[in-house]
Amino acid sequence: MNIRSIAINLIGDDIPLQKNYRKTSPGKRSADANSLLSFTSLNPGSFSAEGKGKGLEVGETVFVSLKGSKTLSLPLMIKSITYLIEPADHWQAELEGESFGSLNIYTWQVNCDSCQQPYPLEFVSRSDDDSSAQIFHAETRLTALGWLLDNGQHICPVCASKESRESQLH
Ligand SMILES: [Zn+2]
Repeated sequence: MNIRSIAINLIGDDIPLQKNYRKTSPGKRSADANSLLSFTSLNPGSFSAEGKGKGLEVGETVFVSLKGSKTLSLPLMIKSITYLIEPADHWQAELEGESFGSLNIYTWQVNCDSCQQPYPLEFVSRSDDDSSAQIFHAETRLTALGWLLDNGQHICPVCASKESRESQLH
């Protein structure tokens, strides 16, 4: 089996590792700052990581930024984590995520069908995905960013919230 390491932003030695903060209170965020020191692909979908910080627990999801992308990250679930005594606040973890050979980052210029505002969308797709799979990933990403997709129309988050406010008035 062909195992390729995924492209991770390993610029310098301090990569912010974002936790899924939706589960925790906003005030906890700074106390839980973590950064990634090393990242290795063990098997497809299975990764070994070393980092520093605290507050991470088994079962939580962390986001690792993808190399070459400004906004995209890969969600990974913590399978096991060991905090080291020396150096303090360093940890080793086993992470689990989607299994893939290699990923490509695409940019797609989307125009809102309501206000015509252009938006440069970044999305990730497997290298072997066909165009319909790419569209699926692009639209999944748009929805995650708050866009409204309806009958081939793409409505930006600003217009989408206006529309929902107007429909509440009626
Ligand atoms: Zn719009």
